[in-house]
Amino acid sequence: MAIQIKTLDELKIMRRAGLLVGQTLELLRQSIKPGMTTDALDAIAAASIKRGGGTSNFKGYGHPGFTGVICVSINDEIVHGIPGPRIINEGDVVSIDCGAIIEGWHGDAAISIGVGTVNPEDQKLMDVCEESMWRGIAAGKCGSKLSDIGYAVEQYTNSQGKYGILREYGGHGIGTEMHQAPHVLNFGKAGQGPEITPGIVLAIEPMITRGSERTKVLSDDWTVVSVDKSRGAHFEHTYAICPDGKPFVLTAIDGGKEHLARLGVEISDLL
Ligand code: MG
Ligand code: MG
Repeated sequence: MAIQIKTLDELKIMRRAGLLVGQTLELLRQSIKPGMTTDALDAIAAASIKRGGGTSNFKGYGHPGFTGVICVSINDEIVHGIPGPRIINEGDVVSIDCGAIIEGWHGDAAISIGVGTVNPEDQKLMDVCEESMWRGIAAGKCGSKLSDIGYAVEQYTNSQGKYGILREYGGHGIGTEMHQAPHVLNFGKAGQGPEITPGIVLAIEPMITRGSERTKVLSDDWTVVSVDKSRGAHFEHTYAICPDGKPFVLTAIDGGKEHLARLGVEISDLL
């Protein structure tokens, strides 16, 4: 499948979808507290997406159709957890994946949150995962090759300790569908695959555990857990290469300015 190349006008709509996703995740970060159910988080997200003029790309997705507007995955659940009656506890690592559609264009992003006081090793897991995402986005600049992203994610993660990088799941192109070509690995050699060019939009989403990379899917057909029960983290942003050749992180409230500047990459001012 060919990679969908977006025009500047299309990227402007994608920014609206991305910003709504980013703002919804920020609201969830501020709202989460021990004693809440994951359903309550889902309701907050649903209201936020509706208020922002978006619709959910998660609800009804796949087979069996996903029932939430967010995925909520706790501790050894790494991705695709279904919102429900489960209570969130102090010390939990909660990964929330959120998406929205505006005028047919999709946004997709995820964060992991430590609830209250968390184990320092869990905090480091989340910090390493988030930074590996930023390293991946910085490596996926205009003119680089697709596999440079996964190479950067893996190199950084391995430099920080012993973590399992999930193999069966990765990032993806995104646009008029949530999941488009190409698939973006979170590991591998540098310098391979298609060139990153203006108009490309990718969701970069490392998923790592404190143990093995081996996972299984629970009997609900969605929730992905680590086989060794180690805790996992998941961060994701959707970013674009703008017509000026500079990146812009569509799901980051500041467009990725702060984190990418730290890594020596200037963001576009076109969006
Ligand atoms: Mg996602
Ligand atoms: Mg995604």
